[in-house]
Amino acid sequence: MDIHKVAVIGAGVMGAGIAAHIANAGIPVLLLDITTPTLDKLLKADPAPLMHPKNARLITPGNIDDHLAALRDCDWIIEAIVENLAIKQELYRKLATVRRADAVVSSNTSSIPLHELIAGLPDDFAAHCMITHFFNPPRYMRLLEIVSRAQTDQDALAKISYFCDHKLGKGVVTANDTPGFIANRIGIFWIQTAIHEAIALGLTVEEADAVIGKPMGIPKTGVFGLSDLVGIDLMPHLMHSMKHSLPAGDALLEKANIPPVIQTMIDTGYTGRKGKGGFYRLN
Ligand code: NAD
Repeated sequence: MDIHKVAVIGAGVMGAGIAAHIANAGIPVLLLDITTPTLDKLLKADPAPLMHPKNARLITPGNIDDHLAALRDCDWIIEAIVENLAIKQELYRKLATVRRADAVVSSNTSSIPLHELIAGLPDDFAAHCMITHFFNPPRYMRLLEIVSRAQTDQDALAKISYFCDHKLGKGVVTANDTPGFIANRIGIFWIQTAIHEAIALGLTVEEADAVIGKPMGIPKTGVFGLSDLVGIDLMPHLMHSMKHSLPAGDALLEKANIPPVIQTMIDTGYTGRKGKGGFYRLN
């Protein structure tokens, strides 16, 4: 049942934080990316990478294919790359060729359905795939959604749930493979509505956060600060996959258009804490 070695693919906001959290729990972790994340970027993602480096090894190959063999002895491979179905599927096809037969592959996707991620892949591989949706920052946020299907290998599911609960201290919630799972079905529309309404009412972000931050249980960042933490550039990807996966006529579809200011912020590099700043300046 044990997890002895983990690989995290994608060393961005989430992957770096997840890898650090697992390394700090005493488990060796390989962290792979196609680009070299700067130390500054990793520190912005989560300060934890510096805490117990003996357990974490960062591989930034440029061409990930050259390093796939390093994944052969991993018990759990976590995918935390860009929120794009085609790019994730391409990676999954590669993982299907190197994964050890009992190794689990999970995605940190916020919104892409599991059945789409694994479409066309061999049944045995698909049965060992699930979604482990960590929240940001992964080290501190207790909630972890695990999404599986009826065909998911139950031992694999039990192994990951047990590990996340007992070793990572997460409160594991199991969710069905429905659009946005549980948290983002509500959460991204909540953020989106806050932005739309603040613009419509002419509120500053500070005024809006004063009302919808602390009173609603997110005292440190507020809703706009949370968007800076999550990454503004993630929002169009999330809305794209929600539009794609919600059934026609669903009432949420009417709320799925990104305000133009969001695209302007992304185009000019204001993607939040990982960029030049976001709704709030970086100090
Ligand atoms: P990010 O843009 O910060 O990082 C993505 C990383 O993946 C980048 O470093 C990029 O170089 C790398 N990458 C892209 N394609 C790759 C490939 N083919 N192979 C290896 N590396 C590749 O993104 P993020 O915010 O960390 O999001 C990662 C995943 O986690 C997404 O699926 C996202 O929806 C999900 N997620 C994000 C948050 C959040 O708050 N940001 C929260 C929960 C879930």
